[in-house]
Amino acid sequence: MNLNDKYNEKMILEEFRKREIRQYITIFLMLLVYPAIILISAIYESHLNKIPKIILYGIILALLAPVVYIYYNWRCPRCGSFLGKRFLPKFCNICGAKLR
Ligand SMILES: [Zn+2]
Repeated sequence: MNLNDKYNEKMILEEFRKREIRQYITIFLMLLVYPAIILISAIYESHLNKIPKIILYGIILALLAPVVYIYYNWRCPRCGSFLGKRFLPKFCNICGAKLR
């Protein structure tokens, strides 16, 4: 391993750390928002058509945005492959980059 590889490895580790922090924040927000949405749905029960449109669009956005964000964020910094459901991955399954 030459100096350049070592530098790249450090960059990958730093970038992955940032992505991981963003991942945890997103999951934390989902844990707050999803139960709130379930609660709103329970309150309105079969009267979902009575929910104001703006709130309905907000709910749809709150459900979809984190999923889309995770899809773009949770990737290997080196090869860009999606890391899937793996929790605390040590290496990328595709390119073998060390992630922690
Ligand atoms: Zn990779």
